[in-house]
Amino acid sequence: MAAFEDVLSCAKSVAQTAGRKTEEFVELTKLRVKIADLRREIAALYEGLGRLVYDSRTANEPVDDMIDACVEQLSELQAQLTKLEDRVMESKNVIRCDCGTLNVNSAVFCNQCGKRLD
Ligand SMILES: [Zn+2]
Repeated sequence: MAAFEDVLSCAKSVAQTAGRKTEEFVELTKLRVKIADLRREIAALYEGLGRLVYDSRTANEPVDDMIDACVEQLSELQAQLTKLEDRVMESKNVIRCDCGTLNVNSAVFCNQCGKRLD
């Protein structure tokens, strides 16, 4: 009888692990969609920024305030993007050094700049 119970509890834990894996997969997929959206938004902002600069040069219109707003928003989106990318990397067992280099999670030092990784 004990063996039957073992099989049951084993099957249960396999099902739970599979459930967690599915959750991780769904989470990862959601992250990837968000990252793709952010990249599109960032690309559109860069394009807008280019237009603003072009307009300011050709029409001689003052657009500094708009450029400032664009740059500010770009920095914010870039920060969001880095955070999301880091979350994807965590689940892939990769970590990013302050210098931007990707290292395996088990690395103690960055393989590019040599900085100690936490
Ligand atoms: Zn580094």
